[in-house]
Amino acid sequence: MHTLEAREIAVCYGPLEAVHDASFKVDQGEIVALVGSNGAGKTSTLKALMGLLPMARGEILWNGEPITRLPASARVANGIALSPEGRRLFPRMTVLENLQVGAHTVRNASLRNRAMDQVYALFPRVAERRAQLAGSLSGGEQQMVAIGRAMMAQPRLLMLDEPSLGLAPKIIAEIAHAIQQLNRDSGLSIILVEQNANLALQLSHHAYVLEQGKVVLSGTGQELLADDFVRKSYLGA
Ligand code: ATP
Repeated sequence: MHTLEAREIAVCYGPLEAVHDASFKVDQGEIVALVGSNGAGKTSTLKALMGLLPMARGEILWNGEPITRLPASARVANGIALSPEGRRLFPRMTVLENLQVGAHTVRNASLRNRAMDQVYALFPRVAERRAQLAGSLSGGEQQMVAIGRAMMAQPRLLMLDEPSLGLAPKIIAEIAHAIQQLNRDSGLSIILVEQNANLALQLSHHAYVLEQGKVVLSGTGQELLADDFVRKSYLGA
C-alpha cells in the first residue's frame, strides 16, 4: 500500500512561518485536494513533501517510513513526483526532451518507453507535438507536458501544483478528465493543489482547507462543496 502522511509539518522562510503544523494523509488511490487562497502555504507544503524545502518541524511518512530527511532525488526514486506551479518546462528543448528529463531516475529503457507511451495515450496532443519546442506550445499543452514529465518518473503519488492556472475552461475540463483517468485507471494517488476550489473539490475524494499555513477544515470533496464556510469563502456563494 502506498500512503503518505504529513504529521504537523512546518515550513519557515526566515521569521515567516508559511506552513504551521499541518497534518494530512493520502491513502492509496485517493485524490486529495489542498485548497486555499493565494499565500495559504499550498506550494510550500508540496515543496516540503518533495524535499525541495527544509522543514522546521514535523515528519513525513511514506508507506509508514519516515522520508523527512531524504533528498528530493531519493523521494522521486521512491515513487513521489511533482508537477510544479508555472509548469517550469525547458522552453528551448523539445517536448520529447522535456519528457525525457522526467525519466532520468528510471534506469530501465523499456520502463521509460512504457511511461512515454502512457503519457502519449493520456495526452494525444502531446504526442503530436513531440518534436516542437516546449516554449512554442499553448498554456494548456504546456500543462499537459508538465504533468507528463512528472509521470515519466513512474510515480505512485503525483503532486500537481495549480494545474488549472491561467487556462481556458475547455482546457481545464480536459486536464481534469486526464487527472481522473490517471487516478481511476492506474490507481495513482494524487495531491491536487488548487486555488480553483470548486474544481479541486469536484475532483477529490478528500480535501483539506489551508489558511495561513494551517489546516482549518477537512472532509470529503462533497462535504466541503456543501459546507457553508467553504461556500462563502472559496466558492463565491
Ligand atoms: P500561491 O497560490 O500564491 O502559490 P500558496 O498557497 O501556494 O500560494 P505559498 O507559495 O506556499 O502559498 O506561500 C506561503 C507564504 O510563504 C506566503 O506568505 C508567501 O509570501 C511566503 N513565501 C513563499 N515562498 C517564499 C520565499 N521563497 N521566501 C519568502 N517567503 C516566501
